[in-house]
Amino acid sequence: MKKKLEKRRQQLEKAKAEGFVIAIKDKKICSDCKEEKDSIEFTLSKSKRDMKVRLNAKCKPCDSKRSLERYHNGGRFSDEQKLEIIERDKCCQYCGTTENLVADHIVAQHICIKDVASKVSNGQALCVPCNTAKRDRILIESIRDSVGAKEFKRMLKPEYLMLLVEGKYKRRTATIGKRTFNEIVFTEKPVEQP
Ligand SMILES: [Zn+2]
Ligand SMILES: [Zn+2]
Repeated sequence: MKKKLEKRRQQLEKAKAEGFVIAIKDKKICSDCKEEKDSIEFTLSKSKRDMKVRLNAKCKPCDSKRSLERYHNGGRFSDEQKLEIIERDKCCQYCGTTENLVADHIVAQHICIKDVASKVSNGQALCVPCNTAKRDRILIESIRDSVGAKEFKRMLKPEYLMLLVEGKYKRRTATIGKRTFNEIVFTEKPVEQP
């Protein structure tokens, strides 16, 4: 524990020296497990946009679980794929800007079977703010317009496919950039579908 605290102290010193403002609290609720934990249980994230150091939304165990799943699902887009996606789309698919584009996975990696998520057909150009707002959301219109409903079902890990089959999901609307989507949110119990 002492070692961890010392390392954190050094990281913060370094960030301060680089001109970052430290914007972290002693405790934080993890967005995934919803537990309140000490700040040391979260990884730091530095934002060059506003020069602030914050804590990640997810605690370290939740974050690494997610990263591990991503890794097992075929990793990230290669630099060539990123370029191809951004050159194809030319602007953010949600708000239209041509600034700060990144390649986003339309169907998030962690819900896909191995090696299917990181293909160009599952990529779209988004600007950084739209990508941040989208996170791992499952947006029906976005999927329908690109990978298609059939392909989407083929991409899913069996446990997620089962949730769909069993009706364990609900729909809600999500507005990102200039578009409004129907978002699928998985639930523990079946939900009567309209
Ligand atoms: Zn957590
Ligand atoms: Zn955008």
